[in-house]
Amino acid sequence: MIPYGKQQIDQDDIAAVTEVLQSVWLTQGPKVPAFELAVSEQCQASYAVAVNSATSALHIACLALNVGPEDIVWTSPISFVASANCALYCGAKIDFVDITLDTGNICINALETKLIDAQKLNQLPKVVIPVHFAGQPCDMVNLAKLAKQYGFNVIEDASHAIGAMYLDKAIGGCAFSDICIFSFHPVKIITSGEGGMALTNQPDLARKMQQLRSHGITSDPTELTEPSHGPWYYQQQLLGFNYRMTDIQAALGLSQLNKLNKFVSERNQLAAFYQQHFSDNTNIQPLRVSADCYSSYHLYVIRLPELSRNQHKACVEFLRSKGIMGHVHYIPIYLQPYYQQLGFKAGYCANAERYYQQAVTLPLFPGLTAEQQLFVVNELEHFLCSLS
Ligand SMILES: *Cc1c(COP(=O)(O)O)cnc(C)c1O
Repeated sequence: MIPYGKQQIDQDDIAAVTEVLQSVWLTQGPKVPAFELAVSEQCQASYAVAVNSATSALHIACLALNVGPEDIVWTSPISFVASANCALYCGAKIDFVDITLDTGNICINALETKLIDAQKLNQLPKVVIPVHFAGQPCDMVNLAKLAKQYGFNVIEDASHAIGAMYLDKAIGGCAFSDICIFSFHPVKIITSGEGGMALTNQPDLARKMQQLRSHGITSDPTELTEPSHGPWYYQQQLLGFNYRMTDIQAALGLSQLNKLNKFVSERNQLAAFYQQHFSDNTNIQPLRVSADCYSSYHLYVIRLPELSRNQHKACVEFLRSKGIMGHVHYIPIYLQPYYQQLGFKAGYCANAERYYQQAVTLPLFPGLTAEQQLFVVNELEHFLCSLS
C-alpha cells in the first residue's frame, strides 16, 4: 500500500537517538532545550516549549491564556479533533467557523459575520484557533485585525505547517498570534515519534506553559512563595500535567529539523508534479495556495466537485483496491458523535460539509517516487473515466 504520508528516517536520526540511549539522560536532559532553541531559531520565535504531543501543546496553550468554564473558543471544523478538544479539556465551550471551499482554511468573512452576531449576544470568543490546513497558512493579517477589534487571543494550530511561510516569514514566529503549535507525529513534516511544541514571544505565557507541562512545579528560587526548605525543595503552584518530551524524542526531532528545508522543498516538488498532471482535468481541483503563502504540503488534497457522495466513496475505495491509501481529511469535527451530543447539528457549516463530500487526500511524502506518483495519477484518471 502506498501510504498518504509517512516519516523518513536516516542513519543520522538513528545515531542521534542511539547517542541519547547511551547517555545519562533519557528525559529532562540537554536535548529538550537544544531542540527548543533550534526550533525557536528556525521560526524566529522568542520562546519554545516542547511537550509530548501537539494535543498537549494545545491544552496548555489554552490554559496559559486562562481559558476556563466561562469562555468560548472557536476553531475550524475541517481539522483533527484535537483542535477543538483542547477547549473542552478546559471546561470551555467550543464553536466552529466555516471554511473557504477551495483552500480548506477558516473563512475570514464567515469569522467576521459570526463575530458581529456574537458581539450582539455578548458571546464573543476568548480564543480563536486557526488551522493551517494541509500546510497552507491562513489569512493571518485579517485574522489579527479581527482579533484586535474584537479582543480575542489567537492560537495557531500549525500541526501541518512547520516549514511553511507566510508573507516570506516562517510559520511559528507568532507575528499574528499569541501562541503557535507544531506536531511531530510521524505523519507530519518532521517527527520526534510523538511530540509537539508551543511557540510564543510572550515570556509570561512561555513560563506558564513550562510549568503546566511538568505538574505545575517550580524550584526556581525567584518564584518560591516561601523560603526554600533545603536543596530538595520545590513548589507546586498550578495544577499541571506530565506532558514532558523525552530526550530520546528531542534528539530525533533535532536531527529531523536539519532536513526540514529539504523535506518541504521535496513536498513542493511532488505537489507540482500532481498539479501539472491535473491541470487539464477540470474535474480535479487541487487546493488553491495563495500567492502570499509557501505551503509545507503536509497533505496533498484534491476536490472532485462533480462526484456524488457514493462516487466519492467509490473513488477512495477504488484507490485502496489498487494499493493506494487514498484518504479524506477531515470529517467535520462537529459531525463526530461526541460533538453531536453537545448539540451540533448536520448542516451547521455548509462549506465544510460540501468540502467533506469532495475531498480526497493523495499520497505525498519525501521518498515518493515519480513512478508511484504516475501510478496514482493514472489510477485516479482511470476511475474518473469509468464514471462517464
Ligand atoms: C496531528 C494534529 C494534531 C495533534 O497532533 P498530536 O501531536 O498527534 O497530538 C492537532 N491538530 C492538527 C490539525 C493535527 O493535524
